[in-house]
Amino acid sequence: MTEPLLSVTDLSVSYGRVEAVRGVSFDVAAGSLVTLVGANGAGKSSIINAISGLVKPSSGKIVFEGSDVTKTKSHRLVPRGLVQVPEGRQILATMTIAENLQLGARYYGSGASAGIDEMYQRFPVLGERRKLAAGSLSGGEQQMLAIARAMLAKPRLILMDEPSMGLAPKIVNEVFAVIDEVLAAGTTVLLVEQNARRALQAASEGHVLQNGEIVRSGAPEALLADDDIIQAYLGTG
Ligand code: ATP
Repeated sequence: MTEPLLSVTDLSVSYGRVEAVRGVSFDVAAGSLVTLVGANGAGKSSIINAISGLVKPSSGKIVFEGSDVTKTKSHRLVPRGLVQVPEGRQILATMTIAENLQLGARYYGSGASAGIDEMYQRFPVLGERRKLAAGSLSGGEQQMLAIARAMLAKPRLILMDEPSMGLAPKIVNEVFAVIDEVLAAGTTVLLVEQNARRALQAASEGHVLQNGEIVRSGAPEALLADDDIIQAYLGTG
């Protein structure tokens, strides 16, 4: 069997006395989209922040491309190909789309600026509006810009924390089209979402989190057909 790109074993995260994540284990195969779904406060953000080095795990092991990265800081993971799309998008609204991408390219080091043209091809909306302020983009397009900027790092694994949060249903579809584009580029995706139905529809594997623990894992089709999960997370919609 081929080794997974990412392997998380028995991961726990605590904030003082709050145990946000307890003994979570899962793998992410190269080229796949794995999603973690669950209600507000279930521990989803804590897991991806621990993987990307933004939060220190209290125990457990994180292995990326065969190396133990449990204690590796975020800025050291980026050059190794593990990048998180910042929460809340962190787009610089008064700067142009081009400037936002140039800043990203500079942050990710020499060579990345060549990738800007590639992003304009992949996401034509950004190319057409490159000279406009990023704040003039719709919520979905701003998310597209944030993802394109993260892609400039040429990541092997991209972590996304609720990219569809606060967006209208039509715009959510646009964001998922962007995620399809990221997968088509050969990048592996770990996606955290409250929008469980939409995330599971896009995923190759899903894990349901409840109170910091994985309570169900499996193929999205099975999870989407599970009555308990439908009642708890998917509603009737
Ligand atoms: P959300 O969708 O609201 O982001 P989530 O599933 O991502 O939820 P987390 O943000 O990981 O969940 O939070 C899990 C638990 O840890 C919650 O009870 C939350 O209040 C707590 N928590 C998260 N960050 C901190 C922090 N910095 N300090 C203290 N408690 C925290």
